[in-house]
This record gives sequence, structure tokens and C-alpha cells, in this order.
Amino acid sequence: MDKTRQVNQINTDIVVVGGGAAGCFAALRARDICDEVLIVSKGMVGLSTSSATLGGGANVCFPDDDHDLWMQEIVERGEYLNDQEWVKLQLEEVYPLAMKLDQWATEYQLKIFEKDNSNMETR
Ligand SMILES: Cc1cc2nc3c(=O)[nH]c(=O)nc-3n(C[C@H](O)[C@H](O)[C@H](O)COP(=O)(O)OP(=O)(O)OC[C@H]3O[C@@H](n4cnc5c(N)ncnc54)[C@H](O)[C@@H]3O)c2cc1C
Repeated sequence: MDKTRQVNQINTDIVVVGGGAAGCFAALRARDICDEVLIVSKGMVGLSTSSATLGGGANVCFPDDDHDLWMQEIVERGEYLNDQEWVKLQLEEVYPLAMKLDQWATEYQLKIFEKDNSNMETR
């Protein structure tokens, strides 16, 4: 048996492990601050594991939305099992991330997010 192994060395500024939605987003953001970004992924980049099944819905709390009502609804629907610090973080940080995605999409004449109030109970 041939015990020699060929090793390819790749030089890069940042390595992102995982090519799902989170990894792809992280890689794109990393490109804002450096030249070389490498995604190392077990499955197909952008189309593997959970991200391959994404249904297309997103909870985006807009700045003019009532954050307390959002918090109340998410926590009540989650039967008080949610980590409320994470819910708070989500409410504060998802909007700018969504806008960033939309900005990228605009460059390709696409639109990702449209506001839809139909599935809301209290807010
Ligand atoms: C049926 C279904 C519907 C959903 N609908 C929605 C929705 O409508 N809206 C919404 O916001 N969310 C939805 N979700 C949740 C959403 O899909 C996940 O939260 C999201 O895709 C997770 O992305 P991720 O990048 O963190 O993980 P993943 O998509 O799981 O990506 C993980 C990546 O890591 C790679 N990997 C794994 N192990 C290794 C390893 N050892 N070395 C290198 N790479 C590795 C995989 O190949 C993959 O590329 C849904 C989930 C499911 C299952």
C-alpha cells in the first residue's frame, strides 16, 4: 500500500468551516475586511444539510415595530423555553443583517425580503 499522501497547501486570510447559510454569510462578510476567504465544507456549499431545506420565512423585527410585543409573542409561543437574551439579540441584530442581504440582492436586481404581516398574532 502506498503510504505517501499528497498535501495541498492553500494560503488564505480566513477559513470558514461549513458552507450552509451561516457559513456563506460569514464568508461574504469576511470578504468586506480581507482578500482571501476559504470555505471548507463537508457538503455542497449553500445547498447542504439544514440550509437545503430552508422554507423562505424570516422573522425580521423592523426598527418601527414594537420590540416588547415581538418579545412577548416569541416567548409565549415558545412556552417560556426560549433563552430570552438570545431572543433580544435576534430582535436587535436580524434587521441590519437582513438589510445587508437585501443590499447584496439589489446588485443583482433581486429582492429578498418583503414585509408580510399575515402570520402575526399580536403585533
Ligand atoms: C424543514 C426546514 C425548514 C426550515 N425553514 C426555515 C425558514 O423558513 N426560515 C428560517 O429562517 N429557517 C428555517 N429553517 C432553519 C434553517 O434551515 C437553519 O437554521 C439554517 O439553514 C442553519 O444554517 P447553518 O449554516 O447554521 O447550518 P447548515 O445549513 O446545517 O450548514 C452546516 C454546514 O456545515 C457543513 N459541515 C458539517 N459538518 C462539517 C464538518 N465536519 N466539516 C466541514 N463542514 C461540515 C455542512 O456540509 C453544511 O454546509 C428550516 C429548517 C428545516 C429543517
